[in-house]
Amino acid sequence: MTSIREKLVLIGNGMAGVGTIEQILKLGGAYDITVFGSEPHPNYNRIMLSYVLEGSKTVDDIILNDWSWYKDNGITLHTGTTVARIDGDKRQVITENGLTVDYDKVIIATGSNSFILPIPGSGREGVVGFRDIADCEAMLEAAKQYGKAAVIGGGLLGLEAAKGLVNLGMDVTVVHLMEDLMERQLDHTAASMLKAELERQGVKFAMGKQTVELTGDERVSGLRFIDGTELEAQFVVMAVGIKPNVSVAKASGIEVNRGIVVNDYLQTSLADVYSVGECTEHRGVCYGLVAPLFEQGTVLAKHLCGVETKPYEGSVVSTKLKISGVDVFSAGEFIDTPEHTVISAKDDWKRTYKKILLRDNIIVGAVLFGDVTESGSLQKLVKQGAVMTDDIYADVMGTGCCGGGGAKKTASVESMSDEEIVCGCNGVTKKAIVDAITDNGFTTVDEIKACTGATRSCGGCKPVVEQILQYVLGDGFEQSAKTGICSCTTLSRDEIVAQIRAKGLTTTKEVMNVLGWKQEEGCSKCRPAVNYYLGMIYPDTHEDEKESRFVNERMSANIQKDGTFTVVPRMYGGVTTPEDLKRIADVSIKYDVKVVKVTGGQRLDLIGIKKEDVPKVWEELDMPSGYAYAKSLRTVKTCVGSQFCRFGTQDSMSMGALLERKYERLDFPAKFKMAVNGCPRNCAESCTKDIGIVGNDGGWEVFIGGNGGIKPRIADSFCKVKTDEELVGICSAVMQYYRETGNYLERTSEWVERIGLEHIKTAILDNEEERKALAHRIDFALTQVQDPWKKMLIDGATRSALFEATEIR
Ligand SMILES: Cc1cc2nc3c(=O)[nH]c(=O)nc-3n(C[C@H](O)[C@H](O)[C@H](O)COP(=O)(O)OP(=O)(O)OC[C@H]3O[C@@H](n4cnc5c(N)ncnc54)[C@H](O)[C@@H]3O)c2cc1C
Ligand code: SF4
Repeated sequence: MTSIREKLVLIGNGMAGVGTIEQILKLGGAYDITVFGSEPHPNYNRIMLSYVLEGSKTVDDIILNDWSWYKDNGITLHTGTTVARIDGDKRQVITENGLTVDYDKVIIATGSNSFILPIPGSGREGVVGFRDIADCEAMLEAAKQYGKAAVIGGGLLGLEAAKGLVNLGMDVTVVHLMEDLMERQLDHTAASMLKAELERQGVKFAMGKQTVELTGDERVSGLRFIDGTELEAQFVVMAVGIKPNVSVAKASGIEVNRGIVVNDYLQTSLADVYSVGECTEHRGVCYGLVAPLFEQGTVLAKHLCGVETKPYEGSVVSTKLKISGVDVFSAGEFIDTPEHTVISAKDDWKRTYKKILLRDNIIVGAVLFGDVTESGSLQKLVKQGAVMTDDIYADVMGTGCCGGGGAKKTASVESMSDEEIVCGCNGVTKKAIVDAITDNGFTTVDEIKACTGATRSCGGCKPVVEQILQYVLGDGFEQSAKTGICSCTTLSRDEIVAQIRAKGLTTTKEVMNVLGWKQEEGCSKCRPAVNYYLGMIYPDTHEDEKESRFVNERMSANIQKDGTFTVVPRMYGGVTTPEDLKRIADVSIKYDVKVVKVTGGQRLDLIGIKKEDVPKVWEELDMPSGYAYAKSLRTVKTCVGSQFCRFGTQDSMSMGALLERKYERLDFPAKFKMAVNGCPRNCAESCTKDIGIVGNDGGWEVFIGGNGGIKPRIADSFCKVKTDEELVGICSAVMQYYRETGNYLERTSEWVERIGLEHIKTAILDNEEERKALAHRIDFALTQVQDPWKKMLIDGATRSALFEATEIR
């Protein structure tokens, strides 16, 4: 005899609803489940839309439950189908296209819609919200066709959209009504730091502006503000907020306020109808982040499966902003009033800020900017309403604003309590992760993700989950973490390098043959990597394989989107002469250079040179290549230093030029940038360079691992030295150590994070012999390099093959 299962219908195939169904399945809930979703996709991770927009993930990458998941769990799925209403009398769910399904229980999880400002012109073509895959696709399309975009709204969503559009090459202005960004999560200091950081990354801002009209004909052409000023934009993203989607509930006669009103067991006013997610209003609050929605889902799933559960009593919301490269966190109260005791620390050099608010000595809120290492502990303390003690103070403030580097991070995993929440979005504790590893023998983050849900939503906790994995597995971790450098091989970078050395392999072909590559010829990922490793191991004998290099490196110039090239000659330490400038001007006029651009690295970029003219330009410039296309030393940025500046304590210009001359032309795993400053005022911005050098009264301080690119990172202080000679010795050792241990394409910012600052310090600073040996090896490699432009000019065959006949792909 088969038992009759109750029919459960989910309206809304999004994160909260499907999250609840997953919990029900885990608890063994015996339901026949039907899911309706308006979108044509299976359940996907909405949070990751920003990554789809910036191009680092595809739609397929962000699918949480693929089609087979529904099938395997016996769930009937109707995508592209919108539910119109619930008939409580007939106990049926009715769709807009006339489908009728009986139910015993219903969950409404219809999420929110983007709030579109009701102003003239908001219906014009080119105006979108930022909510779903369709919006994302519209943005990707717009970026191909139009130049200027405006994002209305300076909250989390607006900033993510703006950053995505900037990455797509658009000129983007964020228009915000208030004077501070994210004013509902950040205080004035953190908001100002965030704005400055995003400006650095290319986002423009129009603050304190109220948009009253979107101008244009059929398509939007601009914004008009209440003060009469205007802004040009052929594409507008409205990110001014969300509106709980209550239409099904309203049409079904269910009590609705701002959202669908529920009790502490998520029950609506209609019997057997529940609501979770952003469409839901609990005790007067509608939430807009996933963590509270999953907490609701957990209570509802238990309730529907007859498992005893505490009621849902609301959530403490914390925000960890994940705009690429900007670390911001806020939890609980964040604006200080006279009632608060404020603990704060701001570091303008590292661009970090930490603030903790106490009321009657109870921790009621926190804001972090630039370093969010303490976010997990602070979130817990705020949630618990913990009393501030000396120990807690030392724990959360002991490191100042800037965290304590890698060593502290690992130690903090060890000292975390079992109940500490690691994945805030999915409420996964350290114990749940440790148990998953020990009970199931897991060795990868993906396995932990599938079992516990940790890292599945915003992904911000992945580094901590990795550290727990490392902590539990000990030596076994490295074994398990090994993955091939690409799909052609299962060998890691270290194994390949070791095998090249051990077996004396000398060409990429030989490496691939002997080491059993699955694909004989390799691929575009492994070929340049192996070519680099060979060059690094055999600087004197390795014959560089041009065909294994990326096109810009093959051509020794950067190809532009219109097929022309850019040429960037060296200007050592950013210093030039009237004679060189005259030559650049003459050549630019003669070869009809479209634009001469001063680069961020303090030199000149000659843009728009025809392919056939490139060698002639090199010849007539008669200057060294600036390597603007290469995985090599790009620039050494300098300030004016003690030669001219009244604050300068060291001669930064001379030192910068010396370093640039010494290390130019050598291959590195990735591009490499340096800066030298005459004093700690740091005008040449050492903090974002691979090696940043700052002069002081007694000598120099060296910083490593900085990056100002797509994933900015502030450099770590490495050491202080007294003499110029010592400084060069340290630079040589760091560069060669990076050359020898870095993964191909890995910037020093990632390298330092991966192998650990302390480890690099031990290898270089605590071991004079090794430091000298590294310096000796880089000096030897440097004797082998040659200027590529000069080389190409005397190599007639390559020159004509590349610049006269070859089609570039
Ligand atoms: C770009 C972006 C970035 C974000 N970043 C973060 C972040 O960093 N951290 C964080 O915590 N949160 C973030 N969020 C918010 C988070 O994604 C939402 O809180 C979460 O997705 C809400 O889940 P939900 O299930 O309530 O709604 P949704 O995920 O919106 O799902 C609702 C689904 O129901 C469907 N639907 C609606 N009406 C009907 C109907 N009548 N019939 C059938 N189907 C219907 C909708 O089409 C939708 O697919 C972000 C959101 C966006 C858009
Ligand atoms: S960093 Fe110091 S020395 Fe260099 S320009 Fe700025 S103030 Fe002058």
